[in-house]
Amino acid sequence: MEFTTKNNEVLCPVCGFEYNHFLSVKVIAPHHNTINIVGSNEAKLTKYEPTGTFTSNVRGTEIQIEYSCENGHHWIFAQFFYKGTIETKIIQLPELEEEYDSLWRD
Ligand SMILES: [Zn+2]
Repeated sequence: MEFTTKNNEVLCPVCGFEYNHFLSVKVIAPHHNTINIVGSNEAKLTKYEPTGTFTSNVRGTEIQIEYSCENGHHWIFAQFFYKGTIETKIIQLPELEEEYDSLWRD
């Protein structure tokens, strides 16, 4: 699964739909704290937890952007430092069953 765009619009990696929403942004530093911006009005600093969506083989900071498409698909686009380069990864998550609070939009 790859991160793709069409005419500079982000496409859902599952169905290719262009109508997507930001849900959260995380900056994860292994063995340090995580900065997590969730929904429209919450930012928190949390302790690192070696579980969850973190890509376990990374050797540096990982930045994750969480999305949902209007067909219900839910995924993370991750970028992480590994041996001098920055790599990317798509992490597919279970579909959301409830209404979600996306990052701020007009
Ligand atoms: Zn989709």
